[in-house]
Amino acid sequence: MSYKALYRTYRPQTFEEMAGQKHILRTLQNAVRENKIAHAYLFTGPRGTGKTSMAKLLAKTLNCEGDNKPCNECENCKEIMDGSHPDVVEIDAASNNGVDEVRNLIDKVKYSPILGKYKVYIIDEVHMMSTGAFNALLKTLEEPPEHVVFILATTEPHKVLPTIVSRCQRFDFGRISLNDIKERVKVVLEKENVSYEDGVIDLIGELCDGGMRDALSILDQAIAYAGNDLKCSHIREIYGVTSLKEKIELLNYVSEGNEEKIMEKIASYDDKGVDLTRLTIGLIDLLKEVIVYKNSRNASVLKVINTSSINEFKEQSVNKMFEWINVLVEALANYKKVNAPKSFFELACLKMVNCKDRREMYVVREEPRVEVIENKKVEEKVIVKEEKPVLHEEKKVVEEVKEVVREETRVDVSHETVSPISSEERYIPTEEELLNVLVQATKEDLVAAKQKWVILPKYMNSMATAKVTALLLQGLPVAAAKNMLVLVYENETYLNRVNFVNIHHEMNNFLKALYNENMMCYCVTREDFIKLKDTYMDLRSRKALPSPKAIKFEEEVEDKDEGLEFGKKVFGDFLQVKEE
Ligand SMILES: [Zn+2]
Repeated sequence: MSYKALYRTYRPQTFEEMAGQKHILRTLQNAVRENKIAHAYLFTGPRGTGKTSMAKLLAKTLNCEGDNKPCNECENCKEIMDGSHPDVVEIDAASNNGVDEVRNLIDKVKYSPILGKYKVYIIDEVHMMSTGAFNALLKTLEEPPEHVVFILATTEPHKVLPTIVSRCQRFDFGRISLNDIKERVKVVLEKENVSYEDGVIDLIGELCDGGMRDALSILDQAIAYAGNDLKCSHIREIYGVTSLKEKIELLNYVSEGNEEKIMEKIASYDDKGVDLTRLTIGLIDLLKEVIVYKNSRNASVLKVINTSSINEFKEQSVNKMFEWINVLVEALANYKKVNAPKSFFELACLKMVNCKDRREMYVVREEPRVEVIENKKVEEKVIVKEEKPVLHEEKKVVEEVKEVVREETRVDVSHETVSPISSEERYIPTEEELLNVLVQATKEDLVAAKQKWVILPKYMNSMATAKVTALLLQGLPVAAAKNMLVLVYENETYLNRVNFVNIHHEMNNFLKALYNENMMCYCVTREDFIKLKDTYMDLRSRKALPSPKAIKFEEEVEDKDEGLEFGKKVFGDFLQVKEE
């Protein structure tokens, strides 16, 4: 027996079973009762909000021969339910966007219905239709035969020709309310004889984002995975959501600045296949709610978090939480650019650790103020807010970082016009060099590199290292081998900069001190790295990979000392010199 998805099995077969969209239901039922049927309907709304279900219900109601329409018992109802009714045609425009197919269909429009009273054409994802098909459809809509009803469904109404929209009676399907979804999920669980832990229904409701189809497919997968006894942990495992408790734990590590624990947690998410996009959105929602609660002290605003969990959440200023939200929103935007957003999530967490509360930059103190009013001396206290004195050292770092940014801009401009710097002064890694890293790269080396990146931000605080650290932090380690490291730069301005020979040299020196051994870094764009990986895979499949070569580092005495001196200057006590 073939398996039928829950959302198909539990497609509402009566108007009563339809979740939400009550105003649309009422209007359509009245129209049928009063025999005021439009020739074309446009159902718009997000996926999983019942557009197709409603279209099928309407098709049944229009053709039903029973008293309480749709009766689900007459021949018309039955055939529509199993998809074999000759007069009800369902088309997925996303797969049938050929002009010919729609023309073919429209040619048949003129024939009377075979079995029922109406021919009903349900065209799903109608915005995907080609212009030719649209025009053919438009012609039919201009002079529709009496017995024909079009039901067009779309998630993107703005992409449907206005001339089509204007000929349709339009219904906007809103997201289904959490209560309606939960109720339906409960009914399905009971009908399927599945026992479930408290919280399962809430969790599914939280995950499906107002889409009934999503809610039922989550349930589907959970049952397939866990059998007939559902626990919240099952659903989390499949959907890779982390619980509220875990989210709070992660944020608490961020406020403690416990970078090691943060990286551990992210690694465990990776192992479990946690959906980082969902997690990031979850963290934003959580922070948003805490902010609203902090400002209002009104427990009724809490949906994601509850009052007892708020107490577990390490006290943060509202300002800092806003900064965190900004960092997370930025990360979210970056996820779209890559297949594996993990690195961006890691960076976001590290940035959050380093977020400064703007208020911490001010000193607030009370000062007495004396005024003479009507010959009387009045003394009162006023609150004075002034910028905290910045330490000389800190100021210099700030200046230096600003200088880096300024130079960036200069490099960019000059690059577009006439470059005053000849290409010899740049270090552009060759394909041969990069392949040499890949043939020797190991996972352990990459993990080690990423761990180094975790501690990098603290070198932002030292004048000697701020510049080089800032540049390194713009890159992400993507491949590593002994003495070799490949960094990907999303921003080409930074890449241009780090590839200047002198800066590249400085970076290698810094890495040498950081690693306590020679280190050669190669900086490339993500695009180039992807191409390189393709080349690597191709060569590997043809067994034509180059043999691994060790890098020759200049082992001159002077150079060695230079590296060591630099290291001492930079790391001070951090540097352990290996005596050999
Ligand atoms: Zn019927």
